[in-house]
Parts: sequence; structure tokens; C-alpha cells
Amino acid sequence: MSNTSSNNLLVVGSVAIDWIITPAAERQESVGGSATYFSMAAGGLAPVQLVGVVGEDFPREAVRDLEDRGVDVDGLETIAGGLTFRWKGRYHENMNDRDTLETQLNCFEHFSPKLPEKYKQTDHLFLANIQPSLQLEVLAQMGRRPMVVGLDTMNLWIDIARDDLLNVLKQVDILMINEEEARQLSGEDNLFDAARSVRALGPSTLIIKRGEYGAMLFGPNEDDIFSVPALPIAQVADPTGAGDCFAGGFMGYIAKQGSGLTTVNLRNAMLWGSVMASFCVEGFSYDQLRGIEESAVAGRFERLVRMCEIPR
Ligand code: AMP
Repeated sequence: MSNTSSNNLLVVGSVAIDWIITPAAERQESVGGSATYFSMAAGGLAPVQLVGVVGEDFPREAVRDLEDRGVDVDGLETIAGGLTFRWKGRYHENMNDRDTLETQLNCFEHFSPKLPEKYKQTDHLFLANIQPSLQLEVLAQMGRRPMVVGLDTMNLWIDIARDDLLNVLKQVDILMINEEEARQLSGEDNLFDAARSVRALGPSTLIIKRGEYGAMLFGPNEDDIFSVPALPIAQVADPTGAGDCFAGGFMGYIAKQGSGLTTVNLRNAMLWGSVMASFCVEGFSYDQLRGIEESAVAGRFERLVRMCEIPR
């Protein structure tokens, strides 16, 4: 299917400079942020429109990288004299768990997203991880209810901004969170029970990201459960952004199809999410997604399909 404006995919989220420490290496000025990773992953699938904010310290080359992936950055505001959001994290030996060492909101502290007029009719919206109050502001500025709205969040917001988050949840179709967040949000240990209780809060579909173990989909119908593995990667360099890239691959595919959340679309999208996440973790920042060939992405999709197939 060729891209038309109805395939547009709007994302709002953080655009960041990270300081990443893994057991094997460290990068101090690693371009990151939920919206950045999402856009770099989705850019090859659908026309992405990015809403976010950076300071004057944000590297211009990173903006060019986004543009090279076909991302419309008219909604990326630069605050004169301001500093970019900064996050510092350290991974444990298992490369799955991590500790946040520091978060500096900087220009996010007083940020109020302003949607360019041309974004307001967009059919696919992803509210990447950011303060729920900002996600609400974006929803309120949309000219009409998009066909598909996805949402990501994190333990911090479940803890300190629960009311705003519950308000956002009422307005979305898909929630993508990790296993721990699903338990925290629902108060249920069993994932099936967690899915049922999260769906009662608004989203018809829940995706639970499970790091190196892949992701699970709880679709709109109670028995519509699907699981996708993560592609085994020989050398995981930096898992930062894997969840955002999963969301980018997932939503990018849904936007590209332009036909909503059918079972077939949802299941294919799970595979695209897994494929894009696998590239992300192979390098620091979005290094492996810069200039990536379409054939390499398609090849990995085929590999994943074969991994899930039972020969008959
Ligand atoms: P992920 O590994 O998918 O959870 O995403 C990692 C990205 O989330 C990093 O690049 C961080 O810059 C960003 N991040 C960390 N904390 C926050 C926060 N409180 N709000 C928004 N983005 C964040």
C-alpha cells in the first residue's frame, strides 16, 4: 500500500540526551528519548510527524538523522538558551534490568506542546513516554479523534501522576507497557488478570513488553492473545529505546496499513515491533537504524516469521 496522508503517524514524547552505562561500555552524550527512538523505528514504514522539545545543546546531526528517516520535525521546538531533557541510566549484568541514576527535565519542565495545524487531522497518534499531562494536552489539540491512539508510560507516572494517566487511558486504543508496569498499574500479579483489569480502564488492546523474552498482545477480544519472541541477538550493546522502537515498528505498520486494529494487522504489527527493537539493541543510541536498508529490515522480518513457523 502506498503512503497517503491517511497513513500519517503523529508522535509526542521525550527527545533526550542520555548517559548510558552498560557492564561493557559507556556513552555520555547518547541521543535518546522515547519520541526519537519511536520515530527512527517507524520512519521507514509510515510518514512520521514528531512533537517534542529540545534545548540548544541538542545536536543538529540528530535532527538530520530524523529527517533522513522521513520524519517531519516541524513540531520539534527548540528553546533558545534552554537545555535538552537528560537521563542517565546504568544496566545490570543481565542487560535487562537498569537503574535510573539521574533525570533532568530541563526544557520539559515548562513545555506545552503546540501541534502544527497540519498534524491535527492525523489518523494515527502515539503518545510516547512523557508526563501524562502533556499527553492529555496533545489529545485535546487534535481536530478529531484519530482512528488509532497508542500510549506508553512508565512506573514513575503510574506512581506520581496516576489521575492524569487514568484520564489518558480512557482515550486510547492500545497501551504498551512492560510486565512490571502492568502489575503496578493493575495491582494484579497474573498477566491475564492484569490485562483484564487494564482493559477496563479504557484501552481495548494491551501489549506487554517483556524485554529479551519478547512481547504479548491481549487483543480486543478476551481470547485474542498473541505472543512474539524477541529476535536472538548475539551481542546486545545497549537496550535503551528497545520498547520505543518496538512501539515504532508496531504503530508504523498499523499506520502503513491504514485499516485499523484488525487481528491480522495487530499480529503483523507485533512482528514489526520485534524486528525494529532487535536493530535498536545492537548499538548505542539509534546507531543501527541510521541509514538502514529496507532489505535488511525485510530480511529480518522473514527470519522472525520462520522462527515462529511450524513446518507442515
Ligand atoms: P526505553 O528503554 O524504551 O524505556 O526508553 C528509554 C528512553 O526513555 C531514554 O532514551 C530516555 O531518554 C527516556 N526517558 C527516561 N526517563 C524518562 C521520563 N521520565 N520521561 C520521558 N522519557 C524518559
